[in-house]
Amino acid sequence: MLIKKQWGKGMVAVALGLAMTGGGVYSIHGSVAKASTITHNAAGTAQGGSDHRQTVHVYKHHGFQLTVQDKSGDPKLRPTINQLVKLYFHKYPDILSYWAGDNDDTHIKNVKLIIDADYDGVAYTVWQDKEVTVGADYIASHPDDIAFLTHELTHMAQAYPTYDNNTVWLTEGIADYSRYLFGPNGTEWRLPEFSEDQHYYDSYRVTARFLLWIEQHGHEGFVKELNNRLQENTYTIQDFETLTGQTVEELWAEYAQNPEVETHYN
Ligand SMILES: [Zn+2]
Repeated sequence: MLIKKQWGKGMVAVALGLAMTGGGVYSIHGSVAKASTITHNAAGTAQGGSDHRQTVHVYKHHGFQLTVQDKSGDPKLRPTINQLVKLYFHKYPDILSYWAGDNDDTHIKNVKLIIDADYDGVAYTVWQDKEVTVGADYIASHPDDIAFLTHELTHMAQAYPTYDNNTVWLTEGIADYSRYLFGPNGTEWRLPEFSEDQHYYDSYRVTARFLLWIEQHGHEGFVKELNNRLQENTYTIQDFETLTGQTVEELWAEYAQNPEVETHYN
């Protein structure tokens, strides 16, 4: 998931947890959170009414930095958090060079990972703040799902200025396409087989598989081109036709006829 930040009075970040419903309509299920400055205090006491003591750890490696603020303070989460830290240093440099290319934002290699016991979703990213927030309950109950962080770090690399009804499905589709590319995919997470009730704008894995299909049917580099245009804020749905010679509907119709893709899960 991704959060779009809106600057307003007192720099309040408005969480727009946009999700697509079956009919192609977007609904808001997010909450409002204040953007606040958090002190890096290893012995800091928990904020936000939690009973646990939070911990803050800073990791550095090869020019990359990760600050982990564990607001849950739950020692049982340590092994999973360690896996997330490893993933960050193993995958993020590649994710960044693949999607961010010539991004000259000097802070992009300095990310904060917040483990939040009060957030009941999986994770969300505020790329403008270089922050990924992870639901403590989610990682407690899904210790084998590490690659959601690959999806979130892709949002960091995407840094698309716009996240609205025209782009959210594609933004999330590309993030899952990136998750497919970079993994680690284990044995659970898979791109779903095509089915008649899908639409290209279903987002996430459905869109990711469609993008992979386009790449494998004569348009290698297509997703990176879309990524460039989204970063430059020039993307429109017509770019499918500009880049492939076929409209998105035509591509989807062809995909529906012959939906086979070659997959390699890393
Ligand atoms: Zn996302």
